Amino acid sequence: MLGPVILAASRSDRMRRLISAAPVTKQVVDRFIPGEGVDDIVPVVEDLTAAGLEVTMDVVGEDITRPEQATAARDAYLELIDRLGELELGERAEMSVKLSLFGQALPSPTTALNRGPSGPAARFQGGHELALANVRPVVEAAAAIGTTVTLDAEDHTTLDSMFAIHEELRRDFPQTGCVIQAYLFRTEADARRLAANGSRVRLVKGAYKEPASVAHQQKTEIDKAYVRTLKILMDGEGYPMIGSHDPRLISIAQELAHRAGRKLDEYEFQMLYGIRTDEHHRLAAEGHRMRVYTAYGTDWYGYFMRRLAEKPANLRFFVRSMISK
Ligand code: FAD
Repeated sequence: MLGPVILAASRSDRMRRLISAAPVTKQVVDRFIPGEGVDDIVPVVEDLTAAGLEVTMDVVGEDITRPEQATAARDAYLELIDRLGELELGERAEMSVKLSLFGQALPSPTTALNRGPSGPAARFQGGHELALANVRPVVEAAAAIGTTVTLDAEDHTTLDSMFAIHEELRRDFPQTGCVIQAYLFRTEADARRLAANGSRVRLVKGAYKEPASVAHQQKTEIDKAYVRTLKILMDGEGYPMIGSHDPRLISIAQELAHRAGRKLDEYEFQMLYGIRTDEHHRLAAEGHRMRVYTAYGTDWYGYFMRRLAEKPANLRFFVRSMISK
């Protein structure tokens, strides 16, 4: 029952101020977010890739309130890509972006009309165009160093806009990936569409607080939906990216890949930095592509709170550290 409470707190400004200011927070945060600036994170990337892992890099931040923050986020990614280019890692180091950090949720007088995947002339308000304008140079810069970008999935109200931006970017950069969330009722249909047109698709369970009108609420239902969706992706024409730490789902994924006749380089596993690290190395040692989602930056609150919500033991550890100080 704690998960939904923590997810609600992840959207509260008051809790953000309280938790961000607590002196012990930092040491708990470091377990999941191993750096605040690009100089901290480059050595982390070097260590992970030297160990045979791949990375997807996330500059943390979301729910911005001013367009200048979106520009700053774009520039932070461009600086990171510049530095990664020097390491010549190619697609072993890709980027993950949250469109809300690029301005997607900002109110704006502009209303864009798009022929997006959700139906003819779907309407996107607010910062849709701004997010597209800010993310495009990041995708271009990533392509210039031989890698790509994956669009993270945020709450369900943002997804039509995210898929429309994904489709638009794929016209010039077909490698651009996106994320789908097993807990949403819409996701199997999204998977069919994306698998048929050869996308790179990360499948996750879903990390936001969603209402029962749009999403499964029970773990067993979410897990079953994950397996059904994964089967669609594995049997399709795209490149599935299995974003999960769940041991059962990982072995089911291996079995489905085998049945679909996929070779080891025709799909990949992805896990979050700091979670089940031994498993990262085990899968890589078995010859799998194993990508570590590595977040860094100063605006870590939302990302951190979702990690607490996923596992109550993290919260207990956090509270114990506060009490023992
Ligand atoms: P669970 O059943 O939650 O966990 C399985 C086991 O993994 C747990 O028993 C535990 O041992 C371990 N574990 C899981 N989470 C934690 C944790 N926080 N701390 C410690 N141990 C843990 N969600 C989105 O909504 N949008 C995205 O774009 C998105 N991108 C993601 C990218 C990657 C690479 C990954 C791995 C996850 C992403 N998520 C995203 C989060 C995802 O939706 C889940 O919330 C998260 O992965 C937990 O689900 P699970 O599949 O690991 O299974």
